[in-house]
Amino acid sequence: MERELTLMAVHAHPDDEVLGTGGVFARYAEEGIRTVLVTCTNGEQGDGPGGVKPGEPGHDEAAVRARRLEELNDSVTHLGIAHVELLGYRDSGMDGWEGNQARDAFANVPFEEAVGRLAALMEHYRPQVVVTYDENGNYGHPDHIQANRIALAAAEATGIPDKLYYTAVPRERVAELFAAMRAAGAAEIQDLPEDFGTPEELITTVVDVAPYAERKRKALQAHASQGDSIFLLKMPEEVQHRALSYEAFVRHFSRVTTPEREDDLFDGLRET
Ligand SMILES: [Zn+2]
Repeated sequence: MERELTLMAVHAHPDDEVLGTGGVFARYAEEGIRTVLVTCTNGEQGDGPGGVKPGEPGHDEAAVRARRLEELNDSVTHLGIAHVELLGYRDSGMDGWEGNQARDAFANVPFEEAVGRLAALMEHYRPQVVVTYDENGNYGHPDHIQANRIALAAAEATGIPDKLYYTAVPRERVAELFAAMRAAGAAEIQDLPEDFGTPEELITTVVDVAPYAERKRKALQAHASQGDSIFLLKMPEEVQHRALSYEAFVRHFSRVTTPEREDDLFDGLRET
């Protein structure tokens, strides 16, 4: 039986879908591949009105949740994502925040229960390709780490994905981009730590999404309440375009034969 080609990305918060996977969503959706976004939390620990942080006066979790889910809805429309599955867990907040302690925070919920829910979605959609974060959640956020853990466990339990990828921030390219931002007058841009991102030699897959850069920009704009997530929009247009026009990944496993370096997440899975 022929399986419909399907891409599933497992993300932690509303807005995470844009920078690392917005372009592959838009591109593959346009090619007729089924696209599924799983967002694990409601992003309650995000910014409130005027950028207020959790614990500060004026930060109302319910209002932040409602706002961010609306923004997600908007973003998904720009990216052309066909199916959105909300696991509805509570945002744990950044590493070290008080929100880490909440018993119902995503990072603290019973592991097997969360894996079971994701596994059921894998059974339902049967994605050949699954994308999530690396073991460190790309930058240490407890919810990103938990998303990685449940995605790996659900992939193993179901045996469904043929390929599983981690999103990657390519070290050398980002260093160049930051240099360009500074040259463009962004004096507040700091030097990056030397171990920032993933070294080029570990990146297996770079997908050209330049034709979708404008849609990614609109999707990012949809998340306007989250000042830190949309910092890129303050950069000159040329810099934005460069940052948005490719997406990089590290192939964690593949059950199909593929070249060492790919430019397509579905390499090895298409009918020839
Ligand atoms: Zn996130």
